[in-house]
Amino acid sequence: MARFRIAVLLAMVCGVAAGEVFRLPTANEAIFERGGGERFFVGTAGKPWTSGAFGCVRTEGWQMHEGLDIRCLQRDRRGEPIDPVMATADGVVVYINRRTGLSNYGNYIILRHVINGIEIYSLYAHLKEVRADLKSGQTVKGGETIAMMGRTSNTAQVISKDRAHVHFELDFLVNDRFGAWYRKYHKGERNDHGDWNGQNLMAVDPQAVFLAQRAQGPAFNFATFVRQQTELCRILVRGSEFPWLKRYPGFVRTNSAVQTIGGYEIALNFAGLPYELTPRDVSEIKSKVPVQLVSVNEAEYARNPCRRLVTKRGSRWELTVRGQNLISLLTY
Ligand SMILES: [Zn+2]
Repeated sequence: MARFRIAVLLAMVCGVAAGEVFRLPTANEAIFERGGGERFFVGTAGKPWTSGAFGCVRTEGWQMHEGLDIRCLQRDRRGEPIDPVMATADGVVVYINRRTGLSNYGNYIILRHVINGIEIYSLYAHLKEVRADLKSGQTVKGGETIAMMGRTSNTAQVISKDRAHVHFELDFLVNDRFGAWYRKYHKGERNDHGDWNGQNLMAVDPQAVFLAQRAQGPAFNFATFVRQQTELCRILVRGSEFPWLKRYPGFVRTNSAVQTIGGYEIALNFAGLPYELTPRDVSEIKSKVPVQLVSVNEAEYARNPCRRLVTKRGSRWELTVRGQNLISLLTY
């Protein structure tokens, strides 16, 4: 009993309560404290801390931020950030970018995890340096130091010392045929990061994950968490085979009424995450068009419009070019 209590205490000290799968990527834990937002997040230049959170938090709610900008706690004598950056969970290194100039993420690292049967990727950006011995394919433990915080980026406007942060994402991989899709639809454009191009990563709110995990304790299940996203819209796509179905079978519902699958009805959250896919019979897929918009949750669109996946023309909702683009990649 005493030993268990010590283990719990140790775990709490290290930023994770007993049984929690996802750990905070730095020692900054203010996200769990009442009124701690200001000490946890860094806003964009001249904007409040809320612009460092996830979602439609930028440009008056019309620009999406796909991760959390977590404030630095430790600095060297010159004021440079030196916080250790740690793996959020046990995982495998899948991508390291050490060519700072090739990305607005600067130096960054992506890890692959499987949590409650769901494949999820964590991304840590603007790093000063990634641990020298790390390479793709290597396994890491949750809480293991993988990098040092920095402020690298290839953007014209540099990240100032006082805004030093790690940009942290939790992502789903949309399609492992991304390279072929990109060559077809972005002819002549460079793709420096292969499958790890930002267009191929679908982010979920890490803050919501951390808070749900802390509130629910051992009952927290990541698959259930994802399936409980708020619906922005439902679409109907033709086709019975695309990589998402195989990669995330936990989001596919069974439909015993279906004899031959002709397509899928898909619920998307505001960010475009396809979190629920229901098979439809060939006889139900009447239209020749590859994708139809079935319904829109107008209240959710009013709250979170920034991905601009759908738009209202007169009294009719339709998928935007962005929305169609996303479905094109998803079903390629
Ligand atoms: Zn960021």
